[in-house]
Amino acid sequence: MSKLTGSKKATQFTESVIREMTRLNALYGGVNLSQGFPDFPAPAEVKQAACAAIEADVNQYAVTWGARPLREAVASGFSRRYGLPVSADEQVTVCCGSTEAMMSTMMAIIDPGDEVVIFEPFYENYGPDAIRSGATPRYVTLHEPDWTFDPDELTAAFNAKTKAVILNTPNNPTGKVFTRDELETIAALCRKWDAIAISDEIYEHIIYDGHRHVPIATIDGMADRTVTINGLSKTYSVTGWRVGWTISPPSLTGAIRKVHDFLTVGAAAPLQEAGAVALGLPDGYYLDLAARYQRRRDMLLEILERHHFTCYKPYGAYYIMTDVRAFGCTNDVEFARYLVKEVGVATVPGSSFYKDPARGRTKVRFCFCKRDETLLEADRRLEKLVPVGVPR
Ligand code: GLN
Repeated sequence: MSKLTGSKKATQFTESVIREMTRLNALYGGVNLSQGFPDFPAPAEVKQAACAAIEADVNQYAVTWGARPLREAVASGFSRRYGLPVSADEQVTVCCGSTEAMMSTMMAIIDPGDEVVIFEPFYENYGPDAIRSGATPRYVTLHEPDWTFDPDELTAAFNAKTKAVILNTPNNPTGKVFTRDELETIAALCRKWDAIAISDEIYEHIIYDGHRHVPIATIDGMADRTVTINGLSKTYSVTGWRVGWTISPPSLTGAIRKVHDFLTVGAAAPLQEAGAVALGLPDGYYLDLAARYQRRRDMLLEILERHHFTCYKPYGAYYIMTDVRAFGCTNDVEFARYLVKEVGVATVPGSSFYKDPARGRTKVRFCFCKRDETLLEADRRLEKLVPVGVPR
């Protein structure tokens, strides 16, 4: 047999459906409510800081695990917000986006035969991350409408082989914000089975209706067994800069830094300088960010409900999961293709967030990190869509 093929691991996962939907959107000239990136500008101070860093010739490699000002800003910001001491030298590693942060962490901690517990629906990268790192994923379902998990199902997913659980709160794609009680349940299992929590908290500041973000690292006994992942992308509307980081217990930092170093050497040096400036923005910036997103959430919810989508109201992040049975949809992929091609609105098919595609067959995800004009244009285009049994 020819050796001119991809590896076995590489054939076990597909192209990212999220990125594919953005490409289809470009092909059909749609309104892109699929891949979650803002279509409005980043804060002026942050952009100016990046330009100033390039002008000042911060153009060579930063320290492989991250420029000191950014690492210090990450450490002091987390300590200030959550009262947990973090050492910039021993715990923070800057990566090329939280995507690389997650992959470096997985590759740094997983041995063949290790199992990783993943909540579904999940952000689609976690599946390939598990396969690439050699982990066996064990999925635990979050059940709509409020995306709760069954504690017995979670308990049954943990065993002596469990190396880690991947958590994402506020959650993509559901908008769920894990409560302290839920995190206590997860933490108790981590402690019982000596497992690591890998917590993707990229939507930390995008949270609504008085909900509060609780980092699992702050739960009793978890600081020493949690890798917290975050980045500039969502908080500062710079998804294309690819600057993210891990906050890890010192016992894991060396392994993560080694993997990160040989994968990418380091994230863009001038953008790390700008990141340190971004993290220094006053508290008002974050309140304003959340308030603006809450308004956009309400706007898109109203639009989608008026167009007969069943919406699961999100309390964090910038996505709305919907059920599309009203349109007679039994195949989310076909429906999403129809939406982008014939209606002109790009979404992400629900099945791409589930291990078993059947669970997502009647769902599609919309994002609302967009200007009002963009959401209003989607509203106009969705007029074309007619639910089953409604005469026109
Ligand atoms: N997190 C965003 C989403 O879910 C973008 C993902 C990506 O393409 N890196 O749409």
